[in-house]
Amino acid sequence: MAIRNVTVMGAGVMGRGIAYVSALAGFHTTLVDISEKQLQEAHDYAKQTTQKGIKREKLTEEQAQHLLGNLHTSLNCESTVETADLFIEAVPEKRELKKQVMEMAEKHAPGHTIFASNTSTISPTELASFTKRPRQVAVMHFFNPVHMMPLVEIVRGLETSTLTVALIRESAEKMGKETVEVNEFPGFVTSRISAMVGNEAFHMLQEGVASAEDIDKAIRLGLNYPMGPFELGDLVGLDARLNNLKYLHETLGEKFRPAPLLEQYVKAGRLGRKTGRGVYDYTDKEELIKK
Ligand code: NAD
Repeated sequence: MAIRNVTVMGAGVMGRGIAYVSALAGFHTTLVDISEKQLQEAHDYAKQTTQKGIKREKLTEEQAQHLLGNLHTSLNCESTVETADLFIEAVPEKRELKKQVMEMAEKHAPGHTIFASNTSTISPTELASFTKRPRQVAVMHFFNPVHMMPLVEIVRGLETSTLTVALIRESAEKMGKETVEVNEFPGFVTSRISAMVGNEAFHMLQEGVASAEDIDKAIRLGLNYPMGPFELGDLVGLDARLNNLKYLHETLGEKFRPAPLLEQYVKAGRLGRKTGRGVYDYTDKEELIKK
């Protein structure tokens, strides 16, 4: 079976990036959301990203045209799924919402569709249990920003078939990604480590160990991470980070209890870049001003 039509559900930070690399790979890609505004922003994002790519000579004019020609948007989830060979959900990390989306997709998808989830933490076995086709369900975990990050983590559920994993790997490779196959554990490899480091950084900030800038700088320059934990948290979204930690706390225990300061930032609506303010202030986009 060949993957030709890809449906990406959720046009947020991740969904728009996944749709971009999918369209660039030559898949006929439809990005679906319940919000017209999100779809418009996703479309603008694709245009701007192609323009930047051309400027930096990462992309030719022809590739950009081809990409934009392959990328479609829709508010109609049901009818889009009817033609999907590969369905990738990237809706918010809420179990009940993922359940609704998986059930809806299965109801309308043809028999051969592969169902992938971009979840950061949720068990693929549990996601598969929301459908009657558990052999065709797996996690396909992309990283932010999707067009730049080279990895896709593939996580197989209890019943995921070898063919499903092979088709997901092949699609990810066409999208220019390297893959790793991970056994089913909460948080897989990357979310588990990243949540732990990010949470520890919030504990340190709360304890007054150092300023946010200096914690980030220490991790970047001393440990050779490409970004500091607060820069990354603001990029990922502090609400997403908190959701992941809550899930890991529930499933893996006390060491993942979210830092109170992180909870406070989320309560205050300081969610990171997407709201203009997280640990850092982005209201003046060129300048990072702490608090
Ligand atoms: P986001 O909040 O930026 O976007 C979610 C989108 O889903 C929004 O556009 C929203 O309108 C849409 N949506 C909500 N309900 C919907 C529905 N019923 N049908 C269709 N669309 C719906 O979220 P995000 O940060 O892109 O995260 C999406 C998923 O990717 C989550 O599972 C998250 O854990 C995972 N993830 C996020 C990151 C990251 O860096 N943000 C990295 C890896 C994985």
